[in-house]
Amino acid sequence: MNNKQKKDVILIGAGIMSATLGTLLNKLEPNWNIKLFEKLDQAGKESSNEWNNAGTGHAALCELNYTVEQPDGSIDISKAVEIYEQFQLSKQFWAHLVDANDIDDPEKFIRPLPHISFVYGENHVNFLKKRFNSLLPLPMFETMEYTEDPQKLLQWIPLMMENRTMDEPIAATKMDSGTDVNFGELTRKMIHNLERQDHFSVQYNSNVTDIKKLRDGTWEVKVINLDEGTIEHHTADVVFIGAGGGAIPLLQKTKIPESKHIGGFPISGEFLVCTNPDIVSKHQSKVYGKEPDGTPPMTVPHLDRRYIGGQSSLLFGPFAGFGPKLLKNGSNMDFFKSIKSNNILTLLAAATKNMPLVKYSIEQVLASKSNRMEALRNFVPGARDEDWELIVAGKRVQVIKDTDDSGRGVIQFGTEIVHSEDDSMIALLGESPGASTAVAIMLDVLKYNFTAHLEGWQPKLKEMIPSFGESLVENTALLREVEERSSRLLKL
Ligand SMILES: Cc1cc2nc3c(=O)[nH]c(=O)nc-3n(C[C@H](O)[C@H](O)[C@H](O)COP(=O)(O)OP(=O)(O)OC[C@H]3O[C@@H](n4cnc5c(N)ncnc54)[C@H](O)[C@@H]3O)c2cc1C
Repeated sequence: MNNKQKKDVILIGAGIMSATLGTLLNKLEPNWNIKLFEKLDQAGKESSNEWNNAGTGHAALCELNYTVEQPDGSIDISKAVEIYEQFQLSKQFWAHLVDANDIDDPEKFIRPLPHISFVYGENHVNFLKKRFNSLLPLPMFETMEYTEDPQKLLQWIPLMMENRTMDEPIAATKMDSGTDVNFGELTRKMIHNLERQDHFSVQYNSNVTDIKKLRDGTWEVKVINLDEGTIEHHTADVVFIGAGGGAIPLLQKTKIPESKHIGGFPISGEFLVCTNPDIVSKHQSKVYGKEPDGTPPMTVPHLDRRYIGGQSSLLFGPFAGFGPKLLKNGSNMDFFKSIKSNNILTLLAAATKNMPLVKYSIEQVLASKSNRMEALRNFVPGARDEDWELIVAGKRVQVIKDTDDSGRGVIQFGTEIVHSEDDSMIALLGESPGASTAVAIMLDVLKYNFTAHLEGWQPKLKEMIPSFGESLVENTALLREVEERSSRLLKL
């Protein structure tokens, strides 16, 4: 990236990721010209939308896949600590935005909700107990409770205990400091705030179709203005592709070497939804179970109390489905067009290496509503078909790439920041842990792709996010301070 001080930046896509990066950059450099292009008519309509994801504020309070059992039987808790700390960064930044009157009514996008892990069967109960004992000594998890007592479980999760036959051991842990987040509302609030800023423009109904590097090192972005039916060309020093499922095709257009040997496999999500108030009122938490053996983290079943648009509901899933669209509002040609001569072997190698996953995906796609209801009955034994409706959620595009360590066609389960050597082109791929950790991911973009500016930005970053650059596990006083401030400002 050339080092002239003032930069022109283009952000592609109005989801939580561009909203977060745009807000951070605008706070740090209010005079930089930033343009955001979104192909739909509003912000937060794809994966970040409230109905397209589960709204879990992922802080490793209940997600069992962040604590992995080692061959010697011990539990590796490092990922859980990392995710917890990342969510604290998000909460601090959102709290700062509320404090600065950039966004209002935090209860419209974040609410307190207990996070519970629930397991059955002796092996899983033993695992949960070990996990609990490993996490409890850490200050961030010291309020975690554990029980195998059916009476206590009846208080914690009445809907899940009704009609349950007690023919195998069950156990649960509970953390009352969990949250339900409406990422769609949060995205819209952040983008509306950006629309009010002097050097920031947001253009909806604007489909980015091409990106190329100009001789002077800047980037030219071709935009189809769907309102006017015209073609526009915009230039910038830095481009951020925050296009969710649409990121891989746009990255391929840049032709940077880093865009080669990467592919994406679209997996659509489905949830069972219940809005019957008699049933909804019996479940006041998010409950995460254990993923089926040999399947990826996104298959972890969970039953979530949600609060969307003034209405409470329950969501169960997610179930995987396949369709060739890379975005929910995409085209059936998306996936096929993303297959290039440089990534076809990468994609084929991934399929060959991951046959159990392919088999699981095929089974999931072929599953009927009654198969989905059977899975739900492991959680809610008395669930009746007529109370639950199947809805289509957002798309995840599973990133597949060649790596030096593991060879061709490796499936990536986390988030990938791909960037050109000069850091002027940055793309965000992958969706896990997702929207909850948007702030941590975008702070990484600042750290690694705007290095020349970072030192000057430190004081402002520390003011907005006091634990930036600090370890909360090593500094309990700071942990308590940031938890108190975030909870107070976000009304948790
Ligand atoms: C089923 C499911 C459940 C999930 N549950 C959770 C959860 O509980 N907690 C959590 O933290 N995360 C969760 N996630 C992940 C989370 O939703 C995503 O990580 C996050 O929303 C991604 O945000 P984004 O801004 O990258 O993408 P998006 O929100 O998809 O935004 C991308 C935007 O780019 C636009 N765009 C695309 N192509 C173009 C183009 N060519 N030109 C212009 N605009 C374009 C799109 O229209 C869209 O508005 C879940 C995801 C799924 C699918």
